[in-house]
Amino acid sequence: MHYVSTRDAKRQVSSAEAIVAGLSPDGGLFVPECFPRFSIEDLAGMLKLDYSACASKVLGTYLSDFTHQELDEITKAAYGDNFDNTDIAPVRALGGESVMELFHGPTLAFKDMALQILPHLMSASIQKTGETRKVLILVATSGDTGKAALEGYKNVPGTAIIVFYPREGVSSAQKLQMITQEGSNVAVYSVEGNFDDAQNGVKRIFCDDGLAQTIDTLGYKLSSANSINWGRLVPQIAYYFWAYLTEVRAGRLTLGDRLNVVVPTGNFGNILAAYYAKRMGLPLAKLICASNSNNVLTDFFNTGAYDSRRSFFKTSSPSMDILISSNLERLLFEAAGRDEETVKRWMKALSTQGRYEVGEEIRAALIGDFYAGCSTEEEAKATIQRVFESSSYLMDPHTAVAQAVYEQYKAETGDSTASLVVSTASPYKFASDVLLAIAPSVEEGDEFAIAKKLSEASKTPVPFAIAALEGKPRLHTESCATEDMGDVVLSKLRAWCE
Ligand SMILES: *Cc1c(COP(=O)(O)O)cnc(C)c1O
Repeated sequence: MHYVSTRDAKRQVSSAEAIVAGLSPDGGLFVPECFPRFSIEDLAGMLKLDYSACASKVLGTYLSDFTHQELDEITKAAYGDNFDNTDIAPVRALGGESVMELFHGPTLAFKDMALQILPHLMSASIQKTGETRKVLILVATSGDTGKAALEGYKNVPGTAIIVFYPREGVSSAQKLQMITQEGSNVAVYSVEGNFDDAQNGVKRIFCDDGLAQTIDTLGYKLSSANSINWGRLVPQIAYYFWAYLTEVRAGRLTLGDRLNVVVPTGNFGNILAAYYAKRMGLPLAKLICASNSNNVLTDFFNTGAYDSRRSFFKTSSPSMDILISSNLERLLFEAAGRDEETVKRWMKALSTQGRYEVGEEIRAALIGDFYAGCSTEEEAKATIQRVFESSSYLMDPHTAVAQAVYEQYKAETGDSTASLVVSTASPYKFASDVLLAIAPSVEEGDEFAIAKKLSEASKTPVPFAIAALEGKPRLHTESCATEDMGDVVLSKLRAWCE
Protein backbone atom coordinates (compact mmCIF):
# COMPACT_ATOMS: atom_id res chain seq x y z
CA MET A 1 0.00 0.00 0.00
CA HIS A 2 1.33 3.40 -1.00
CA TYR A 3 0.32 6.85 0.14
CA VAL A 4 -0.30 9.88 -2.02
CA SER A 5 -0.50 13.57 -1.15
CA THR A 6 -3.88 15.30 -1.34
CA ARG A 7 -2.10 18.02 -3.33
CA ASP A 8 0.03 15.82 -5.57
CA ALA A 9 -1.28 12.34 -6.35
CA LYS A 10 1.95 11.50 -8.20
CA ARG A 11 3.97 11.82 -5.01
CA GLN A 12 4.00 8.26 -3.66
CA VAL A 13 5.53 7.26 -0.34
CA SER A 14 5.53 4.16 1.86
CA SER A 15 3.62 4.03 5.15
CA ALA A 16 6.86 4.44 7.13
CA GLU A 17 7.82 7.49 5.06
CA ALA A 18 4.36 9.00 5.54
CA ILE A 19 4.59 8.56 9.32
CA VAL A 20 8.10 10.01 9.60
CA ALA A 21 7.26 12.99 7.36
CA GLY A 22 3.91 13.88 8.97
CA LEU A 23 2.98 16.45 6.35
CA SER A 24 3.75 16.19 2.62
CA PRO A 25 6.34 18.77 1.42
CA ASP A 26 3.68 20.23 -0.94
CA GLY A 27 1.56 21.12 2.08
CA GLY A 28 -0.90 18.27 1.46
CA LEU A 29 -1.80 15.33 3.70
CA PHE A 30 -0.92 11.73 3.00
CA VAL A 31 -3.83 9.42 2.18
CA PRO A 32 -3.86 5.71 1.27
CA GLU A 33 -3.88 5.00 -2.47
CA CYS A 34 -7.01 2.86 -1.93
CA PHE A 35 -9.22 1.51 0.86
CA PRO A 36 -8.71 -2.11 1.93
CA ARG A 37 -12.04 -4.01 2.02
CA PHE A 38 -13.48 -6.11 4.85
CA SER A 39 -16.36 -8.47 4.01
CA ILE A 40 -19.01 -9.58 6.50
CA GLU A 41 -17.12 -12.92 6.70
CA ASP A 42 -13.92 -11.03 7.55
CA LEU A 43 -15.80 -9.23 10.33
CA ALA A 44 -17.20 -12.52 11.62
CA GLY A 45 -13.64 -13.81 11.85
CA MET A 46 -12.68 -10.85 14.04
CA LEU A 47 -15.39 -11.33 16.68
CA LYS A 48 -13.09 -13.27 18.99
CA LEU A 49 -10.18 -10.84 18.88
CA ASP A 50 -9.24 -8.63 21.83
CA TYR A 51 -8.66 -4.91 21.24
CA SER A 52 -4.93 -5.16 20.41
CA ALA A 53 -5.47 -8.01 17.96
CA CYS A 54 -8.39 -6.18 16.33
CA ALA A 55 -6.26 -3.04 15.96
CA SER A 56 -3.36 -5.09 14.58
CA LYS A 57 -5.66 -6.59 11.95
CA VAL A 58 -6.92 -3.16 10.81
CA LEU A 59 -3.44 -1.58 10.87
CA GLY A 60 -2.03 -4.52 8.92
CA THR A 61 -4.17 -3.69 5.90
CA TYR A 62 -2.65 -0.20 5.70
CA LEU A 63 0.90 -0.42 7.07
CA SER A 64 2.24 -2.85 4.51
CA ASP A 65 5.90 -2.27 5.36
CA PHE A 66 5.31 -3.56 8.89
CA THR A 67 5.14 -7.33 9.49
CA HIS A 68 2.13 -8.83 11.29
CA GLN A 69 4.40 -9.83 14.14
CA GLU A 70 5.69 -6.27 14.46
CA LEU A 71 2.16 -4.89 14.52
CA ASP A 72 1.06 -7.48 17.09
CA GLU A 73 3.94 -6.39 19.33
CA ILE A 74 3.31 -2.70 18.80
CA THR A 75 -0.44 -2.90 19.48
CA LYS A 76 0.20 -5.00 22.60
CA ALA A 77 2.70 -2.45 23.88
CA ALA A 78 0.26 0.41 23.20
CA TYR A 79 -2.97 -1.13 24.47
CA GLY A 80 -1.69 -3.85 26.81
CA ASP A 81 -1.82 -2.40 30.30
CA ASN A 82 -1.87 1.38 29.82
CA PHE A 83 -5.65 1.65 29.94
CA ASP A 84 -7.86 1.40 33.02
CA ASN A 85 -10.41 -0.84 31.28
CA THR A 86 -9.53 -4.20 29.72
CA ASP A 87 -11.83 -3.49 26.76
CA ILE A 88 -9.65 -0.40 26.02
CA ALA A 89 -12.66 1.23 24.29
CA PRO A 90 -15.68 -0.11 26.23
CA VAL A 91 -19.14 0.33 24.71
CA ARG A 92 -22.13 0.84 27.02
CA ALA A 93 -25.83 0.67 26.21
CA LEU A 94 -27.55 3.85 27.30
CA GLY A 95 -31.29 4.19 26.79
CA GLY A 96 -31.80 3.79 23.02
CA GLU A 97 -28.23 4.27 21.86
CA SER A 98 -24.77 3.08 22.84
CA VAL A 99 -21.76 5.09 24.00
CA MET A 100 -18.18 4.17 23.14
CA GLU A 101 -15.79 5.48 25.78
CA LEU A 102 -12.43 6.48 24.34
CA PHE A 103 -11.10 8.00 27.55
CA HIS A 104 -9.64 5.07 29.47
CA GLY A 105 -6.02 5.84 28.59
CA PRO A 106 -3.44 7.55 30.81
CA THR A 107 -4.58 11.13 30.06
CA LEU A 108 -8.35 10.53 30.09
CA ALA A 109 -9.02 11.83 26.57
CA PHE A 110 -9.43 10.08 23.22
CA LYS A 111 -6.04 11.39 22.02
CA ASP A 112 -4.51 8.45 23.93
CA MET A 113 -6.04 5.97 21.46
CA ALA A 114 -3.57 7.27 18.85
CA LEU A 115 -0.78 8.80 20.93
CA GLN A 116 -0.16 5.63 22.92
CA ILE A 117 0.71 3.86 19.68
CA LEU A 118 2.19 6.61 17.48
CA PRO A 119 5.59 6.65 19.28
CA HIS A 120 6.00 2.91 18.61
CA LEU A 121 4.99 3.35 14.95
CA MET A 122 7.36 6.33 14.74
CA SER A 123 10.36 4.47 16.21
CA ALA A 124 9.84 1.54 13.85
CA SER A 125 9.27 3.85 10.86
CA ILE A 126 12.48 5.75 11.61
CA GLN A 127 14.43 2.50 11.46
CA LYS A 128 12.68 1.39 8.27
CA THR A 129 13.50 4.63 6.49
CA GLY A 130 17.18 4.41 7.50
CA GLU A 131 17.04 7.58 9.58
CA THR A 132 19.93 7.58 12.08
CA ARG A 133 19.10 10.76 14.00
CA LYS A 134 16.84 10.83 17.02
CA VAL A 135 13.40 12.34 16.51
CA LEU A 136 12.49 15.50 18.36
CA ILE A 137 8.73 15.94 18.70
CA LEU A 138 7.62 19.55 19.11
CA VAL A 139 4.05 20.18 20.24
CA ALA A 140 2.01 23.32 20.74
CA THR A 141 -1.07 22.30 22.69
CA SER A 142 -4.37 23.72 23.80
CA GLY A 143 -4.48 21.01 26.47
CA ASP A 144 -5.25 17.40 25.55
CA THR A 145 -2.70 16.69 22.82
CA GLY A 146 0.31 17.88 24.83
CA LYS A 147 -0.29 15.58 27.76
CA ALA A 148 -1.23 12.61 25.58
CA ALA A 149 1.94 13.09 23.47
CA LEU A 150 4.08 13.37 26.63
CA GLU A 151 2.65 10.13 28.01
CA GLY A 152 3.12 8.40 24.67
CA TYR A 153 6.70 9.51 24.03
CA LYS A 154 8.13 9.49 27.58
CA ASN A 155 11.22 7.26 27.75
CA VAL A 156 10.71 5.95 24.17
CA PRO A 157 14.25 5.23 22.86
CA GLY A 158 15.39 7.40 19.96
CA THR A 159 12.86 10.17 20.69
CA ALA A 160 12.54 13.34 22.72
CA ILE A 161 9.57 15.63 23.19
CA ILE A 162 9.15 19.31 24.03
CA VAL A 163 5.67 20.71 24.69
CA PHE A 164 4.65 24.38 24.72
CA TYR A 165 1.31 25.37 26.24
CA PRO A 166 -0.26 28.84 26.47
CA ARG A 167 0.05 30.12 30.02
CA GLU A 168 -3.55 31.34 30.15
CA GLY A 169 -5.13 28.86 27.77
CA VAL A 170 -5.42 25.47 29.47
CA SER A 171 -7.62 24.14 32.29
CA SER A 172 -6.03 23.67 35.71
CA ALA A 173 -6.28 19.87 35.46
CA GLN A 174 -4.60 19.99 32.04
CA LYS A 175 -1.81 22.21 33.35
CA LEU A 176 -1.26 20.00 36.38
CA GLN A 177 -1.10 16.93 34.15
CA MET A 178 1.67 18.52 32.08
CA ILE A 179 3.85 20.16 34.71
CA THR A 180 4.05 16.94 36.74
CA GLN A 181 5.13 14.88 33.70
CA GLU A 182 7.88 12.35 34.39
CA GLY A 183 10.37 10.91 31.87
CA SER A 184 14.02 11.46 30.94
CA ASN A 185 13.33 12.75 27.41
CA VAL A 186 10.54 15.26 28.08
CA ALA A 187 10.34 19.02 28.61
CA VAL A 188 7.35 21.33 29.10
CA TYR A 189 7.21 25.14 28.91
CA SER A 190 4.45 27.65 29.29
CA VAL A 191 4.44 30.35 26.65
CA GLU A 192 3.43 33.94 27.18
CA GLY A 193 0.39 34.32 24.95
CA ASN A 194 -2.51 32.24 23.68
CA PHE A 195 -2.64 28.94 21.79
CA ASP A 196 -2.15 30.60 18.40
CA ASP A 197 1.04 32.28 19.67
CA ALA A 198 2.41 28.93 20.86
CA GLN A 199 1.36 27.26 17.60
CA ASN A 200 2.95 29.99 15.47
CA GLY A 201 6.14 29.71 17.53
CA VAL A 202 6.34 25.99 16.78
CA LYS A 203 5.59 26.58 13.08
CA ARG A 204 8.43 29.14 12.94
CA ILE A 205 10.85 26.58 14.36
CA PHE A 206 9.76 24.07 11.69
CA CYS A 207 10.36 26.62 8.93
CA ASP A 208 13.73 27.90 10.21
CA ASP A 209 16.44 26.22 8.09
CA GLY A 210 19.30 27.53 10.23
CA LEU A 211 17.71 26.13 13.34
CA ALA A 212 17.02 22.81 11.62
CA GLN A 213 20.72 22.60 10.74
CA THR A 214 21.80 23.15 14.34
CA ILE A 215 19.23 20.63 15.53
CA ASP A 216 20.64 18.23 12.92
CA THR A 217 24.23 18.66 14.17
CA LEU A 218 22.98 17.82 17.65
CA GLY A 219 21.74 14.50 16.19
CA TYR A 220 18.01 15.22 16.03
CA LYS A 221 15.35 15.45 13.32
CA LEU A 222 12.19 17.49 13.91
CA SER A 223 8.77 15.89 13.73
CA SER A 224 5.29 16.61 15.01
CA ALA A 225 2.59 14.67 16.83
CA ASN A 226 -0.45 16.53 15.59
CA SER A 227 -3.46 14.91 14.05
CA ILE A 228 -2.54 15.34 10.40
CA ASN A 229 0.04 12.54 10.75
CA TRP A 230 -1.19 9.31 9.12
CA GLY A 231 0.22 7.43 12.13
CA ARG A 232 -2.31 9.22 14.32
CA LEU A 233 -5.27 8.69 12.04
CA VAL A 234 -4.91 5.00 11.21
CA PRO A 235 -5.16 3.72 14.83
CA GLN A 236 -8.47 5.59 15.12
CA ILE A 237 -10.05 3.49 12.36
CA ALA A 238 -9.59 0.41 14.55
CA TYR A 239 -11.95 1.49 17.32
CA TYR A 240 -14.89 1.78 14.91
CA PHE A 241 -14.38 -1.87 13.98
CA TRP A 242 -14.06 -2.69 17.67
CA ALA A 243 -17.28 -0.84 18.54
CA TYR A 244 -19.23 -2.58 15.78
CA LEU A 245 -17.94 -6.02 16.81
CA THR A 246 -18.71 -5.25 20.47
CA GLU A 247 -22.32 -4.42 19.55
CA VAL A 248 -22.57 -7.74 17.69
CA ARG A 249 -21.07 -9.66 20.63
CA ALA A 250 -23.56 -7.97 22.96
CA GLY A 251 -26.46 -8.99 20.73
CA ARG A 252 -27.43 -5.38 20.02
CA LEU A 253 -26.53 -5.78 16.33
CA THR A 254 -26.52 -8.69 13.90
CA LEU A 255 -23.56 -8.80 11.52
CA GLY A 256 -24.49 -6.69 8.52
CA ASP A 257 -26.89 -4.37 10.42
CA ARG A 258 -26.11 -0.71 9.97
CA LEU A 259 -24.90 1.61 12.73
CA ASN A 260 -24.92 5.43 12.89
CA VAL A 261 -22.00 7.08 14.65
CA VAL A 262 -22.10 10.46 16.36
CA VAL A 263 -18.74 12.19 16.83
CA PRO A 264 -17.87 15.38 18.74
CA THR A 265 -15.66 17.05 16.17
CA GLY A 266 -12.83 19.59 16.12
CA ASN A 267 -10.02 18.92 13.68
CA PHE A 268 -12.11 16.27 11.83
CA GLY A 269 -9.69 13.41 12.66
CA ASN A 270 -11.98 11.19 14.70
CA ILE A 271 -14.96 11.32 12.33
CA LEU A 272 -12.72 10.95 9.28
CA ALA A 273 -11.56 7.62 10.74
CA ALA A 274 -15.24 6.56 10.85
CA TYR A 275 -15.62 7.58 7.19
CA TYR A 276 -12.57 5.48 6.27
CA ALA A 277 -14.00 2.52 8.22
CA LYS A 278 -17.21 2.86 6.22
CA ARG A 279 -15.29 2.93 2.93
CA MET A 280 -13.56 -0.27 4.10
CA GLY A 281 -16.87 -2.10 4.30
CA LEU A 282 -17.83 -1.65 7.95
CA PRO A 283 -21.64 -1.33 7.86
CA LEU A 284 -21.86 2.24 9.12
CA ALA A 285 -24.87 4.37 8.19
CA LYS A 286 -24.90 8.13 8.92
CA LEU A 287 -21.74 9.80 10.22
CA ILE A 288 -23.09 12.54 12.45
CA CYS A 289 -20.67 15.44 12.84
CA ALA A 290 -21.34 17.34 16.09
CA SER A 291 -19.91 20.81 16.70
CA ASN A 292 -20.19 23.32 19.54
CA SER A 293 -20.77 27.05 18.94
CA ASN A 294 -17.72 27.04 16.65
CA ASN A 295 -19.99 25.50 14.03
CA VAL A 296 -18.01 26.04 10.83
CA LEU A 297 -18.44 22.36 9.88
CA THR A 298 -22.22 22.44 10.44
CA ASP A 299 -22.46 25.35 8.02
CA PHE A 300 -20.13 23.62 5.57
CA PHE A 301 -22.20 20.45 5.30
CA ASN A 302 -25.45 22.42 5.19
CA THR A 303 -24.45 25.06 2.63
CA GLY A 304 -21.38 23.78 0.77
CA ALA A 305 -19.37 26.85 1.86
CA TYR A 306 -16.51 26.55 4.34
CA ASP A 307 -16.09 29.99 5.85
CA SER A 308 -13.54 30.44 8.64
CA ARG A 309 -14.10 34.22 8.85
CA ARG A 310 -16.26 34.25 11.94
CA SER A 311 -16.12 34.90 15.67
CA PHE A 312 -14.22 32.40 17.76
CA PHE A 313 -15.99 31.21 20.92
CA LYS A 314 -14.28 29.83 24.01
CA THR A 315 -16.57 27.01 25.16
CA SER A 316 -16.73 24.33 27.84
CA SER A 317 -15.67 21.83 25.13
CA PRO A 318 -12.31 23.50 24.33
CA SER A 319 -10.90 20.61 22.26
CA MET A 320 -13.56 21.41 19.67
CA ASP A 321 -12.87 25.16 19.61
CA ILE A 322 -11.41 25.11 16.13
CA LEU A 323 -12.14 27.10 12.97
CA ILE A 324 -9.78 25.32 10.55
CA SER A 325 -10.39 21.57 10.59
CA SER A 326 -7.20 20.29 8.94
CA ASN A 327 -8.30 16.72 8.35
CA LEU A 328 -11.29 17.83 6.27
CA GLU A 329 -8.79 18.09 3.40
CA ARG A 330 -8.63 14.29 3.29
CA LEU A 331 -12.41 14.07 2.88
CA LEU A 332 -12.37 16.81 0.23
CA PHE A 333 -9.81 14.80 -1.74
CA GLU A 334 -12.27 11.87 -1.90
CA ALA A 335 -15.24 14.17 -2.55
CA ALA A 336 -13.40 15.76 -5.48
CA GLY A 337 -12.84 12.35 -7.04
CA ARG A 338 -9.19 12.47 -5.92
CA ASP A 339 -8.56 15.49 -8.14
CA GLU A 340 -5.63 17.29 -6.54
CA GLU A 341 -6.08 20.46 -8.61
CA THR A 342 -9.55 20.99 -7.14
CA VAL A 343 -8.26 20.39 -3.60
CA LYS A 344 -5.39 22.83 -4.18
CA ARG A 345 -7.82 25.47 -5.43
CA TRP A 346 -10.02 25.14 -2.34
CA MET A 347 -7.08 25.18 0.08
CA LYS A 348 -5.58 28.21 -1.63
CA ALA A 349 -8.90 30.03 -1.33
CA LEU A 350 -9.04 29.07 2.35
CA SER A 351 -5.59 30.46 3.07
CA THR A 352 -5.98 33.64 1.00
CA GLN A 353 -9.69 34.46 1.41
CA GLY A 354 -10.62 32.43 4.50
CA ARG A 355 -13.33 30.53 2.59
CA TYR A 356 -14.12 28.17 -0.28
CA GLU A 357 -17.22 26.63 -1.79
CA VAL A 358 -17.52 23.06 -3.08
CA GLY A 359 -20.74 23.44 -5.03
CA GLU A 360 -24.10 21.71 -4.67
CA GLU A 361 -23.20 18.47 -6.45
CA ILE A 362 -20.34 17.67 -4.08
CA ARG A 363 -22.30 18.83 -1.05
CA ALA A 364 -25.19 16.55 -2.00
CA ALA A 365 -22.79 13.61 -2.30
CA LEU A 366 -21.24 14.40 1.09
CA ILE A 367 -24.56 14.49 2.92
CA GLY A 368 -25.24 10.99 1.66
CA ASP A 369 -22.69 9.94 4.28
CA PHE A 370 -22.74 12.85 6.74
CA TYR A 371 -25.19 14.79 8.85
CA ALA A 372 -23.95 17.88 10.68
CA GLY A 373 -25.37 19.76 13.64
CA CYS A 374 -24.26 21.95 16.51
CA SER A 375 -25.13 22.49 20.14
CA THR A 376 -25.05 25.63 22.27
CA GLU A 377 -23.42 25.80 25.71
CA GLU A 378 -26.84 25.70 27.38
CA GLU A 379 -27.96 22.65 25.39
CA ALA A 380 -24.76 20.77 26.23
CA LYS A 381 -25.12 21.57 29.93
CA ALA A 382 -28.79 20.57 29.94
CA THR A 383 -27.85 17.33 28.17
CA ILE A 384 -25.31 16.41 30.87
CA GLN A 385 -28.02 16.96 33.47
CA ARG A 386 -30.78 15.12 31.59
CA VAL A 387 -28.64 12.06 30.79
CA PHE A 388 -27.44 11.91 34.38
CA GLU A 389 -30.97 12.10 35.72
CA SER A 390 -32.43 9.54 33.34
CA SER A 391 -29.54 7.03 33.20
CA SER A 392 -27.14 7.92 36.08
CA TYR A 393 -24.53 8.31 33.36
CA LEU A 394 -22.00 11.12 33.52
CA MET A 395 -20.93 12.78 30.24
CA ASP A 396 -18.13 15.28 29.72
CA PRO A 397 -19.02 18.50 27.82
CA HIS A 398 -17.59 17.24 24.48
CA THR A 399 -19.63 14.05 24.62
CA ALA A 400 -22.68 16.08 25.65
CA VAL A 401 -22.39 18.12 22.44
CA ALA A 402 -22.53 14.85 20.47
CA GLN A 403 -25.48 13.55 22.48
CA ALA A 404 -27.40 16.83 22.00
CA VAL A 405 -26.80 16.78 18.23
CA TYR A 406 -27.87 13.13 18.07
CA GLU A 407 -31.16 14.03 19.74
CA GLN A 408 -31.70 16.86 17.22
CA TYR A 409 -30.94 14.44 14.39
CA LYS A 410 -33.44 11.88 15.66
CA ALA A 411 -36.16 14.49 16.13
CA GLU A 412 -35.52 15.93 12.67
CA THR A 413 -35.26 12.70 10.67
CA GLY A 414 -37.12 10.08 12.72
CA ASP A 415 -34.21 7.72 11.88
CA SER A 416 -34.33 4.75 14.25
CA THR A 417 -31.12 3.03 13.03
CA ALA A 418 -28.94 1.79 15.91
CA SER A 419 -26.54 4.57 16.91
CA LEU A 420 -23.21 4.92 18.66
CA VAL A 421 -22.26 8.14 20.44
CA VAL A 422 -18.50 8.56 20.71
CA SER A 423 -17.34 9.80 24.12
CA THR A 424 -14.00 11.57 23.90
CA ALA A 425 -13.11 12.64 27.44
CA SER A 426 -13.62 11.61 31.03
CA PRO A 427 -16.06 13.90 32.87
CA TYR A 428 -13.33 14.25 35.51
CA LYS A 429 -11.14 16.10 33.05
CA PHE A 430 -13.74 18.88 33.00
CA ALA A 431 -15.00 18.32 36.51
CA SER A 432 -16.15 21.82 37.43
CA ASP A 433 -18.37 22.24 34.36
CA VAL A 434 -19.82 18.76 34.77
CA LEU A 435 -20.42 19.33 38.48
CA LEU A 436 -22.14 22.61 37.69
CA ALA A 437 -24.49 20.77 35.33
CA ILE A 438 -25.58 18.06 37.76
CA ALA A 439 -25.41 19.88 41.13
CA PRO A 440 -25.74 23.59 40.40
CA SER A 441 -25.33 24.81 43.97
CA VAL A 442 -21.96 23.37 44.95
CA GLU A 443 -19.24 25.92 45.69
CA GLU A 444 -15.77 25.98 44.09
CA GLY A 445 -12.54 24.46 45.39
CA ASP A 446 -9.25 23.21 43.94
CA GLU A 447 -9.11 20.51 41.24
CA PHE A 448 -9.06 17.66 43.74
CA ALA A 449 -11.83 19.05 45.92
CA ILE A 450 -14.05 19.42 42.85
CA ALA A 451 -13.23 15.90 41.68
CA LYS A 452 -14.22 14.57 45.12
CA LYS A 453 -17.48 16.51 45.04
CA LEU A 454 -18.23 15.21 41.55
CA SER A 455 -17.50 11.70 42.79
CA GLU A 456 -19.93 12.10 45.71
CA ALA A 457 -22.64 13.70 43.59
CA SER A 458 -22.42 11.09 40.82
CA LYS A 459 -21.42 8.02 42.85
CA THR A 460 -18.59 7.33 40.37
CA PRO A 461 -14.92 6.89 41.36
CA VAL A 462 -12.29 9.60 40.74
CA PRO A 463 -10.04 8.15 38.00
CA PHE A 464 -6.59 7.17 39.16
CA ALA A 465 -4.98 9.49 36.59
CA ILE A 466 -6.52 12.49 38.41
CA ALA A 467 -6.12 11.28 41.99
CA ALA A 468 -2.47 10.40 41.36
CA LEU A 469 -1.63 14.02 40.47
CA GLU A 470 -2.26 15.21 44.01
CA GLY A 471 1.06 15.80 45.73
CA LYS A 472 3.17 15.02 42.63
CA PRO A 473 6.20 17.33 42.33
CA ARG A 474 5.89 20.18 39.82
CA LEU A 475 8.82 19.35 37.54
CA HIS A 476 8.25 21.81 34.69
CA THR A 477 7.70 25.36 35.83
CA GLU A 478 9.73 27.28 33.24
CA SER A 479 8.16 29.85 31.00
CA CYS A 480 9.35 31.58 27.83
CA ALA A 481 8.43 34.30 25.36
CA THR A 482 7.28 33.11 21.92
CA GLU A 483 10.35 34.63 20.22
CA ASP A 484 12.64 32.60 22.53
CA MET A 485 11.11 29.18 21.77
CA GLY A 486 13.87 28.26 19.30
CA ASP A 487 16.61 29.07 21.82
CA VAL A 488 14.78 27.11 24.49
CA VAL A 489 14.71 24.06 22.20
CA LEU A 490 18.44 24.32 21.46
CA SER A 491 19.51 24.71 25.08
CA LYS A 492 17.33 21.76 26.09
CA LEU A 493 18.84 19.59 23.34
CA ARG A 494 22.37 20.59 24.40
CA ALA A 495 21.55 19.66 27.99
CA TRP A 496 20.21 16.28 26.83
CA CYS A 497 23.36 15.67 24.73
CA GLU A 498 25.69 16.07 27.71
C1 LIG B 1 -9.34 16.33 20.22
C2 LIG B 1 -10.68 16.17 20.85
C3 LIG B 1 -11.87 16.25 20.10
C4 LIG B 1 -11.89 16.56 18.62
O1 LIG B 1 -11.41 15.51 17.85
P1 LIG B 1 -10.98 15.73 16.31
O2 LIG B 1 -10.37 14.46 15.88
O3 LIG B 1 -10.00 16.86 16.35
O4 LIG B 1 -12.21 16.09 15.56
C5 LIG B 1 -13.08 16.05 20.76
N1 LIG B 1 -13.11 15.83 22.09
C6 LIG B 1 -11.99 15.76 22.85
C7 LIG B 1 -12.12 15.54 24.30
C8 LIG B 1 -10.74 15.92 22.25
O5 LIG B 1 -9.62 15.87 23.02
